[in-house]
Amino acid sequence: MIIILHPDTDRDSPEYGKLMEYLNGLKGISARSHDVAGSQQRLTEIYLIGDTALLDAGEIESFEVVEKVIRVSREYRILGRHKDDNRPSHFEYNGIRFGQDNLQIFAGLCAVDTREHVEQMMQALHEHGLPCTRMGAYKPRTSPYAFQGYGKECLPWVFELAGKYGIRVIAMEVTHDNHIKEIREALQEAGNPTGVMLQIGTRNTQNFELLKSVGRQRDFPVLFKRGFGITLEESLNAAEYLASEGNRNVVFCLRGMKTNYGDPHRNLVDFTHVPVVKRLTRMPVCIDPSHAVGSRNAGPDAIPDLLQATAQGIIAGANMVLADFHPDPPRALVDGPQALRLEELPWFLDDIALVRETYEQRSRLAAEQIRS
Ligand code: PEP
Ligand code: MN
Repeated sequence: MIIILHPDTDRDSPEYGKLMEYLNGLKGISARSHDVAGSQQRLTEIYLIGDTALLDAGEIESFEVVEKVIRVSREYRILGRHKDDNRPSHFEYNGIRFGQDNLQIFAGLCAVDTREHVEQMMQALHEHGLPCTRMGAYKPRTSPYAFQGYGKECLPWVFELAGKYGIRVIAMEVTHDNHIKEIREALQEAGNPTGVMLQIGTRNTQNFELLKSVGRQRDFPVLFKRGFGITLEESLNAAEYLASEGNRNVVFCLRGMKTNYGDPHRNLVDFTHVPVVKRLTRMPVCIDPSHAVGSRNAGPDAIPDLLQATAQGIIAGANMVLADFHPDPPRALVDGPQALRLEELPWFLDDIALVRETYEQRSRLAAEQIRS
């Protein structure tokens, strides 16, 4: 059960005290309060954990500070979408809005390699008015002998270049809680020229200790990748770890599932789950066509499978696209075969715009259908 208090409720007020006294007196139920700071107001939500089936929602609603009581219909209580739940499905970070109703594009390098490549990438984004990118500094690799990323060494100049080209958010995977500290320190030393969205990779979807560490900080939002070999339900529960620790600024990313049935793609593309995740949760949904498809192969119509998969995600209402690009793919240190070239960026963007426009028209048609 979730209790939503009136905006800006004072936690020191006697009215709040009365409610807490009542809740703390409930046997077998524990209450956890959580503040959500918005741009206009602060919202307090109280999560009741335990057997809440017999609790009287009306009685709780009669307390002066309570605005609304929501009965939780799913395990993922904070990020989930429940009956009569009109909590927001968007958040803002460093001036960029992430929501179930809009679209952000994160084109960039799978892994940071040379300063020249990073600069070429960011310059191209800047020329197209794109304020977000992806840049991997810490790379989890299948082989211990493969390049593991330049780690904290590259952060100062990556952040400096981001500032130079007006990049507001960089998606960057972390594989250890030390990396959060390294990123925070490097940003501070550079004078916070940009922001970072911490990425949880598919190999760490159920690394619960990492999730708790990333969830305990609220400076950075999180891009959470679906586990490639577990159920959707398990991945959504894992995402809830972030929120249960305090960070609910989470984008959920589909990136394909590991099964040979997807061959010859790297993974079986799962973008038909975009509307499912939007229906079950309030998280904006990202698609990663690069790690799903894994190659630059094109069909007889000359459309690369990467663009086809992107279009499939966008037409289904995706809110973010994470895509590997590289100025010189054969020289990329990680995942060159799936990287699009910088010259292909305008085509990629035009194709996305075309499909997004169609999605918006489809949404309008669906809304009319409901009204009639
Ligand atoms: C990545 O985005 O760089 C990556 C490693 O993705 P995934 O965790 O989905 O394999
Ligand atoms: Mn990669």
